[in-house]
Amino acid sequence: MTVPKCCLICGQPKRHLVSGKLVRSTIAQLIQSNHPEWNEQSFICLDDVNDVNQFGRQYSARMADVRKGE
Ligand SMILES: [Zn+2]
Repeated sequence: MTVPKCCLICGQPKRHLVSGKLVRSTIAQLIQSNHPEWNEQSFICLDDVNDVNQFGRQYSARMADVRKGE
C-alpha cells in the first residue's frame, strides 16, 4: 500500500516533492523555524522550497545591510 506523499508545509499532494534529507541544512533550518513539525522524514514541495529560498536570501541581504550600517 502506498501512501500518497503530501507536502507538509502546504498539505498538498504535489508532483515535485523534495525529501527533507535532500534539503540543504540552511534551508531546512529556515523551514523548521516556521514549521517545527517538519523534519528530514518530511517532504516539501518545490514551490515551498523556492519560497523559503527567497525568504532566506532576503534575510541574508538584510543581515548584510545591517552589518554594513554599523
Ligand atoms: Zn508545499
